[in-house]
Amino acid sequence: MYAIIVAAGSGQRFASDTPKQFLEIAGKLAVQHSIDAFDKVDEVEGIVLVMPKKQRLWKDIELKANKPLMYTTGGSSRAQSVLHGLEILEPLIDNTEWVLVHDAARLCIRPSDINKLIKACNKNNQGGLLVKTITDTIKFSKKGKNVDKTIDRNKLWAALTPQMFPYKQLRDILNNLNNERITDEASAFEQAGIKPLMVKGRSDNIKITYTEDLLMAEFILRKKT
Ligand code: C5P
Repeated sequence: MYAIIVAAGSGQRFASDTPKQFLEIAGKLAVQHSIDAFDKVDEVEGIVLVMPKKQRLWKDIELKANKPLMYTTGGSSRAQSVLHGLEILEPLIDNTEWVLVHDAARLCIRPSDINKLIKACNKNNQGGLLVKTITDTIKFSKKGKNVDKTIDRNKLWAALTPQMFPYKQLRDILNNLNNERITDEASAFEQAGIKPLMVKGRSDNIKITYTEDLLMAEFILRKKT
């Protein structure tokens, strides 16, 4: 099975000229932490990195893995970036094989969680994703100023990555997508009427979005090793 790590985002909500995935954190580039996690998973044969179109952002960066590393560049949306990753796998992959898709921004991912997802999807023969429970009380606000209502969090789950789906089906579904703004692969399957399997992951598989998230990630990564 191959893993695709999407790292082509520009990080608009992040206050730095360098996209978050290329910052050094806990002694390594952020994206290298994700590569290392997938490199340690036996089922993963190779890793595709989907990098920004602006080559100057990453041309001097050196990334390493024991498994084969392949590179491509991303598109204007996350779904397009995933499609680019799927396209370069075409000569290497059988249509019935499965792929893992992971956000480079989730650099605290652990090999044990990747293995847990693979095992659960294989057992159920169903595509799925890592999720975590919501621990905050969730407010809904139409205009972003006052609270309109509180949403019952007991039925809410936060979607994490990696997510695991059959190669051909994922490619077809993303190609036929009429909403470019979807933020994960599972939503594309949901739109096609398929209900992905939820696999409970670790709550420290956080996503770097804001500058202050770096402190938390640094702490988690230093404790992990
Ligand atoms: O913007 P957001 O944090 O939701 O992005 C999630 C992941 O998708 C990030 O790792 C980002 O680099 C990637 N992405 C991409 N191509 C895009 C947009 C986002 O590879 N066009």
